[in-house]
Amino acid sequence: MRLIDRDEVARRLTYERCIPIVRNAMVALSMGETKQLLRSIIRLSEGRLFGIMPGALGERGAFGAKLISVFRDNAARGIQSHQGLVILFDPETGAPVCAVHAGEITAIRTAAASAVATDALARRDARRLALLGTGEQARTHARAIQHVRNLESIVVWGRSHERAEALADRMQAETPVHIAAAQSAREAVADADIICTVTAASEPILQGEWARPGTHVNVVGSSHAGPVEVDNDLVVRSRFFVDSREGVLQQGAEFLRAKEARLVGDDHIVAEIGQVLAGKAQGRRSEDEITVYKSLGHIVQDLASAWALYSEDE
Ligand code: NDP
Repeated sequence: MRLIDRDEVARRLTYERCIPIVRNAMVALSMGETKQLLRSIIRLSEGRLFGIMPGALGERGAFGAKLISVFRDNAARGIQSHQGLVILFDPETGAPVCAVHAGEITAIRTAAASAVATDALARRDARRLALLGTGEQARTHARAIQHVRNLESIVVWGRSHERAEALADRMQAETPVHIAAAQSAREAVADADIICTVTAASEPILQGEWARPGTHVNVVGSSHAGPVEVDNDLVVRSRFFVDSREGVLQQGAEFLRAKEARLVGDDHIVAEIGQVLAGKAQGRRSEDEITVYKSLGHIVQDLASAWALYSEDE
């Protein structure tokens, strides 16, 4: 069985490669061509989860599962909070053929998915990016969004200003786009055209009233029912898109919270991003509306990325 380690994923799963892979996977998901079960989560203890995500890239496509732990305290140890394996099965023989480093795939494919959504939903002239969060996803989002919009600035906010400054310095070494750290989330988003919430916060760190008209927001940090990153106001005020309708109706914490407060109904979900990409649903309708993309993350993104690494030559 082939093993694709972290370094190989980082080297070969570039955004030029991953963004189209994820775009195609999201269209296939929305067109009903792929199969997946809802993510199952075992709560090991406070701040420690074990997730199991099985799926198939179509009736005759590769299939497999991601087994992934999320240990919140890992950052303090200097290691990834997401650890695990994507196991690929061969569609011809049904045999397991490859194990891929899931932490690195998750880091890259999640940011690629936000890039795909941003490309579809943000204003064409969007230039200013705000990142709320200073962890791995903040880093990968800073890289990925630059592939779909011609950015002039990136502002980073974190609950630790020191870590926000450290991230800004680190990312500045990679890109000519001006990167700075903000003192507050409100300050970070004040001029933003695109906002990505990429924290492990359990209560809102972004309020709807702070977002300017015309902003696009990728809400990424909460991938299960419970923790919320944005308030009800943002959900209500926005044209609300999702990666999977079924997933968000069961596990999309921000949407479920607004629904529970009877502020929105299921019809508030305009469409899945794959429907927009396939031309089956309208994305942004005006320069003024706020669009939200709620990302939960799906196994088809992992499988499609892993299968490309396994099956295609360098
Ligand atoms: P990291 O552990 O690397 O970073 C977590 C970030 O969240 C840190 O900046 C941390 O700040 C911040 N944070 C934690 N608690 C709070 C809080 N209460 N208020 C504000 N900030 C907080 O994780 P990742 O970057 O890998 O992942 C970020 C989030 O995205 C996680 O919740 C993860 O589960 C989720 N995720 C979602 C995916 C999807 O497909 N939608 C896929 C992968 C991840 P500090 O350094 O101060 O602790």
